[in-house]
Amino acid sequence: MRTIGLEEHFVTPELEGYGAGTATVAQPGRWAEASRRLLDLTGERLEAMDAAGLDVQVLSLNSPGIQAEPDLGVAVSRAAAVNDLLAATIEAHPSRFAGFAALPLQDPQAAAKELERSVTQLGLRGALVNAHTHGRYLDDPALRVVWEHAEGLDVPLYLHPANGVDAAHVLSGHPELIGPMWSWGTDTASHALRLVFGGVFDDFPGAKLLLGHMGEGLPYVLWRLDSRWGFHNHHGIELHRGLPSAYLRHNLYITTSGVCSAPPLQCALAALGPDHVLFGTDYPFEEMDVATEFLRTAPIDEGDRAKIAHTNAERLLKL
Ligand code: ZN
Repeated sequence: MRTIGLEEHFVTPELEGYGAGTATVAQPGRWAEASRRLLDLTGERLEAMDAAGLDVQVLSLNSPGIQAEPDLGVAVSRAAAVNDLLAATIEAHPSRFAGFAALPLQDPQAAAKELERSVTQLGLRGALVNAHTHGRYLDDPALRVVWEHAEGLDVPLYLHPANGVDAAHVLSGHPELIGPMWSWGTDTASHALRLVFGGVFDDFPGAKLLLGHMGEGLPYVLWRLDSRWGFHNHHGIELHRGLPSAYLRHNLYITTSGVCSAPPLQCALAALGPDHVLFGTDYPFEEMDVATEFLRTAPIDEGDRAKIAHTNAERLLKL
């Protein structure tokens, strides 16, 4: 069965330093090994893909990537350079790789232009955004231009976690809860809900948002979101679609990245529908062969398995 992974990270020597903050939430030895594998684009990576039966990796720059750059001009030029490198890598291995662009969101107009260039000239399939950009989230009015372009080009934006601006008070004294194990998920789910209540999907009904990690917990809470929205909304916000879950069922697509467990997959399929669940591994932070084995053996409908493995990605990314 053709298998396409949507959350497959890499980094370049020039951009590796942006990950210094991310390294602080990992075991040093494990981080060193992941860093080594992030820097390899076509060697060990292709061997691991072959061994795992992963036909295509949709590559993305590792978190936080360009968004950590403080200088606007440097962010713009480095995003263009890494997207060019990504396109060249894909061109050399067109049957094995596709890519999500990195965007210099520090400069919204430049980010929108880079998205357009990446899709129309480089053949990339959308963009991957790593959480906030110096505290600015994707519902910010200044970033509507990026959504306008994404909708116009009919490409998804993949919202991936990164270290937050600060940690919630409830996590004080518990650094073990800060990072991918816990806080990145709640941060990213919160960011996605900012898009719903911030009107992004009312302004751009055709926008497509991808979330990794089995939807960062959101598929599990649709009913409660709707119920409590009806009871507690007194902020003057109107949702054109009426209920929060309507946006999560319409605009949201999720990947299985970093989650190899059947109950959350079955929940995601039931909550969002089988056309909105796609495969991903979160390489090199998870192993490709573990993820593909999970995909092949999970107790789900065979038609749904094919949708998750490849047909949803082929449709959404025009692969
Ligand atoms: Zn990831």
